Amino acid sequence: MAALRRLLRASAPMYYHSQCTAQRRLFSSLASEAELRFPSLLNRSPPPVRRDPKERSIQWVFLGCPGVGKGTYASRLSQLLGVPHIATGDLVREELNSSGPLAEELRGIVNQGKLVSDEIIINILSKRLEGGEAKGESGFILDGFPRTVRQAEILEGVTDIDLVINLKLREDILVEKCLGRRICSQCGGNFNVASIEIKGENGSPGIYMAPLLPPSGCTSKLITRADDTEEVVKERLRIYNDMSQPVEEFYRRREKLLEFDLPGGYRNHGQSCYML
Ligand code: ADP
Repeated sequence: MAALRRLLRASAPMYYHSQCTAQRRLFSSLASEAELRFPSLLNRSPPPVRRDPKERSIQWVFLGCPGVGKGTYASRLSQLLGVPHIATGDLVREELNSSGPLAEELRGIVNQGKLVSDEIIINILSKRLEGGEAKGESGFILDGFPRTVRQAEILEGVTDIDLVINLKLREDILVEKCLGRRICSQCGGNFNVASIEIKGENGSPGIYMAPLLPPSGCTSKLITRADDTEEVVKERLRIYNDMSQPVEEFYRRREKLLEFDLPGGYRNHGQSCYML
């Protein structure tokens, strides 16, 4: 974990000097790019020590389109397995709610449904890993990272991922699920008021997905994410298909991908399909 945190940090070392001049900005991004491309040449940190999986907790990744429910599944699994659930979307929202210099810049990006740059997200993730390590955390379930092939390559350069779970769902349902998402402004709980009921036709089975309703104490405190509007959700899905779907292929080639078609089945490396 220490090596992972150190190297992730080293891969995006300059971002936080956001007040710098245009020249320094250019130098910074070129230097970051060089470090990302040639980490072994430029890294100032010692090389990572890859720990034997038997000596550490699990290191899993959850992939999937916005609205597929990866946060819900990842958080339940993390409780069962006793490892932290680290969702980069949550980390970005924490940053948005702070009064830090990055908040305004991030708001514009997130509210348009765009991806935050690899440098910023890696910096935010390294800070989270650093904090967790200080509390004695080991292992993780990553949710929402990596989202670009470059992020996947950087992660692969610093640690071994044991398993990548890829959740899939029809696009029309994804949009409905995103629009139904609610967060309790008091306890932070995630809920979904969308009730999905699609009749089976032409031999394909119907789909029913119950809402995930809040307890009565939260009902009056529900809020909707600013980026969960129909227009922004569709843009996020477009960006997922462009930027994140290649990440599925990245892990499929490495035979780490376990795919679930929701609701109801799973495929291992695109081979057989089983009903759950
Ligand atoms: P989603 O519901 O789209 O999966 P998340 O909660 O995971 O949303 O992320 C919210 C936003 O945070 C994203 O739209 C993106 O702007 C930013 N974000 C989260 N993770 C990443 C990442 N790994 N790389 C770039 N941007 C990210």
